[in-house]
Amino acid sequence: MTATPRTALLATLLLAGTMANADGHYDELSISGGVMLIDWRGGFSNDQRAKLRAWLEAVGGAVMLLHGALPRERIRIELTDYRGTGSPVPFARIRRTEPQGVEFFIDPTQPLDAFVTDWTAYHELSHLFIPYPGDADVWFSEGMASYYQNVLQYRAGLLTEREAWQKLYEGFERGRSDDRHDHLTLAQLTPRMYRKRAFMRVYWSGALYFLEADIKLRELGDGRTSLDSILREFGACCLESRRRWTGPEIAAEFDRIAGADVFLPLYRRYEASTAIPDFRPHLAAAGVEVRGERVVVAEPGFLESAETRMNAYAAGPGNHYENPLSYGSNKPLGNATELP
Ligand SMILES: [Zn+2]
Repeated sequence: MTATPRTALLATLLLAGTMANADGHYDELSISGGVMLIDWRGGFSNDQRAKLRAWLEAVGGAVMLLHGALPRERIRIELTDYRGTGSPVPFARIRRTEPQGVEFFIDPTQPLDAFVTDWTAYHELSHLFIPYPGDADVWFSEGMASYYQNVLQYRAGLLTEREAWQKLYEGFERGRSDDRHDHLTLAQLTPRMYRKRAFMRVYWSGALYFLEADIKLRELGDGRTSLDSILREFGACCLESRRRWTGPEIAAEFDRIAGADVFLPLYRRYEASTAIPDFRPHLAAAGVEVRGERVVVAEPGFLESAETRMNAYAAGPGNHYENPLSYGSNKPLGNATELP
């Protein structure tokens, strides 16, 4: 960047923490190579703003545990005051106009801990790792976010590995129970999801798709390829381009990156499904057993990032690692199987 008066002024504004914008003012929150552009929509006190910034910092730190960076360099965060439900984040939605981001409807009177342990932000931010695939393919997008919301909460130390798998398992079970439309394929049901209230089958079929794809990628055998690494490379090559993508086009691009036919064949199989596929074989392949209604992590480690898995493997069983977030504690790796 050359030091013109304009860029010098911009730098000054950035240092001041706010940036003028055609839509008003964003409050900037820098997070390791990226920035969240906060749009305050409500009369928040200074203490509430400080708390909400701390929440977004924790969320940003957790989301970076997917592949080492935020999904996009600039992420717009709209915070709309919405009180009285008892929830810190009653609902949220993705904003796909540039800069893309999330609108959170929040109750600023809730404590920081309630915000940090709420799943919504991990789900919403995960959406931003891929483009919007369109209403017809939204199972793909919701599936990825539903999978990673649990993976990332585990990596950030907010869930134990067993708790994360338990939540995934319970999601798949909810998907299985949502069997009212078994005359419709997933491709037919997805555009009708809202009208038919078929969220569970659509979301959790999608989450299972990404678990199955992640298992297949790990089986490619180079030790470094996983869903994380595919998303990192996709982010570098493709995410900021202006093109529109469908679900199959994203899947095909993932296969090009992987150098293998994983995502697109699986996509065709899932979109033709008339019920969530059997998930127990995939849980077993990831080292998770189901006993009654509870899961047991027979082989820990599947939910770790590739880097952590390799470090833990190199260090040997029984070693501990430090969690990068203050919310985590040391978690045992190696042979420390969790038991219910
Ligand atoms: Zn979602």
